[in-house]
Amino acid sequence: MSKSKSNIKTGWNLDYSYLQLPGAFYTRLKPTPVSAPKLVLFNEQLALALGLDVYSLRGEEGAAIFSGNRLPEGAQPLAQAYAGHQFGHFTILGDGRAHLLGEQITPRGERFDIQFKGSGRTPYSRGGDGRAVLGPMLREYIISEAMHALGIPTTRSLAVVATGEPAIRETVLSGSILTRVAASHLRVGTFEFAARSRTIDELKSLADYTIRRHFPEVETNENPYLGLLQEVIKRQADLIARWQQVGFIHGVMNTDNMALSGETIDYGPCAFMDIYSPDTVFSSIDRQGRYAYGNQPNMGAWNLTRFAETLLPLLDPEMSQAVTLAQEALAGYTPLYQRHWLDGMVTKLGLFAREADDTSLVNELLNMMQKYSADYTNTFLGLTFAETRNTTMSDTKEFQQWLEKWQARRSRQKQSITDSQKLMRDKNPAIIPRNHRVEDALEAAEKENNFDLLHRLLAVLKKPYAHVPEQAEYTAPPEPTGRPYQTYCGT
Ligand code: AMP
Ligand code: MG
Repeated sequence: MSKSKSNIKTGWNLDYSYLQLPGAFYTRLKPTPVSAPKLVLFNEQLALALGLDVYSLRGEEGAAIFSGNRLPEGAQPLAQAYAGHQFGHFTILGDGRAHLLGEQITPRGERFDIQFKGSGRTPYSRGGDGRAVLGPMLREYIISEAMHALGIPTTRSLAVVATGEPAIRETVLSGSILTRVAASHLRVGTFEFAARSRTIDELKSLADYTIRRHFPEVETNENPYLGLLQEVIKRQADLIARWQQVGFIHGVMNTDNMALSGETIDYGPCAFMDIYSPDTVFSSIDRQGRYAYGNQPNMGAWNLTRFAETLLPLLDPEMSQAVTLAQEALAGYTPLYQRHWLDGMVTKLGLFAREADDTSLVNELLNMMQKYSADYTNTFLGLTFAETRNTTMSDTKEFQQWLEKWQARRSRQKQSITDSQKLMRDKNPAIIPRNHRVEDALEAAEKENNFDLLHRLLAVLKKPYAHVPEQAEYTAPPEPTGRPYQTYCGT
C-alpha cells in the first residue's frame, strides 16, 4: 500500500489503496477551493477515534481542511467512477460532487475513507455544479450519527463546513461541504460500472481489491468471488433487518447507494417513520413507492441481483454454471433477512429465544399498530415500560388479548421478567431523529444561523437507549398536521 508519511501536527495518517485499482476507476483531482469557509459542525469524538488532532482542527485549520482549501501534506485526492440503477434505470454516474481525500489509518489500525461531499465539479458532474447545500448536509450529519448511536452500521459524519458561497437551486441557498467517513465507498454501482464498461481484468482487479479490503476471510476460498457475493448478501440482510426494526426508511436505495461494506450510505430523502405503516414513503420523487418502508427488503434483493450479475464472468467460466451459483447465493438472502428480522423483533418484545408462534405474535402486533395508526417507536417503548394505556389501540379488546398472550409467552421463558425488561430497554430506543425535531433544528440553523436546537438534538440522539427523564420531550410524536411529511433529494 502506498503509504504517505504521517502528518504529526494534525494527526493525518493517510493511505491511498484505491490508487492500486486500474486508472479507469477514478480521476485524480483536487477539490475546488471556496471563498470563506466556516466550520459549523465538527465531530470531536469521531476525530479523536480517527487519531486526528482535535485542537488544531477545531478552528481555522478545520475550516481550511474540511472545505478542501488546504490539503493534508501528501494528500492525493480523487473522484471515483461508478454507475447505478436509479429507480430501476441504469446510468453511468461517479462522484459528481465528491472527492476522496484518502484513507485514514486510525491509531487502532483501521482504515476509513475520508470523503468530501459538495467539494466541486469533477469529470462525473454531468452538468451539476459539484456543490451541496447546508440543510441536506446538516441532515446527513444528524441522521447518520443517530444511526450510529442506534447501533446500525453506517457511514459517519466528521464535519460540516459552510462555504460562504451561494448554491443556486430553486432558490439561492448556502453552499456546504460534508466530510464523510466510511469503511469504503465501494458500491454495487462500482461493480456495475466495471461490468458494463470495463474489461474482465479490470472487473477482477475491483473484486480482488474489495475482497482484500472488506472480506479477507474469503480470499483462500475455493471460489473467492462466490464468497464475496455471499458475504455482501449477508451484510445487506443484516443491515436492512436493522433498518426495519427502528423504522428507518432510506428513501433512495438505488444500486449506487448500496455500499458493499454493509454500511448505510447516502442520506438523502431518508426519514424515520412515526406512525406504523408498511407503505410509508417520504421521498417526494418516489411516486411509485419503490422504496417504501415495507418494500426495502425486496429492493435489497433486487440490488443484490444486480450485484450478482456483475460477478457472473468471475463466478465460473461456464455461464450456465455461473448463473446457477449466483442464483443459489441469492436464494439465501430472503431466509437470512427474515431470520435477522424476527430475531430482532422478538428481542424488542423481551424474548430471549424463538418459539414457533413468534412470527404471528409479532405480526399481530404490527397489524394492530397499522389498523390503529400507532406510533412505531412509542408502541415498543410503552411495552418496555408497561405503559400501554390511553392510546387508540391500547383501549381495544384485541390489544388487551394480545397483551395477555405476550405476557404469557414472556413468563414461559426461564429468564426473569427483570431480565426481559432489561433486554427491551437495550433494544427499543426512546429516541429516534423524529422528522419534526430534525426540521425545527434545520430551520433554526439555516434561517437564523442558530445552532442551539441542532446541538441539543445531536446530544439527545447520542443515547437512544438511555431512557432518562431529560429525553422525554424528544419522544413525543409530531402534532397531526393533516398532510404527510415529505422529504426532498435536496442536492
Ligand atoms: P445522490 O442522489 O446524492 O446519490 O447523487 C446521484 C449522483 O448525482 C451522484 O453521481 C452524484 O455525484 C451526482 N450529483 C448529485 N448532486 C450533484 C451536483 N450538485 N453536482 C454534480 N453532481 C451531483
Ligand atoms: Mg449517491
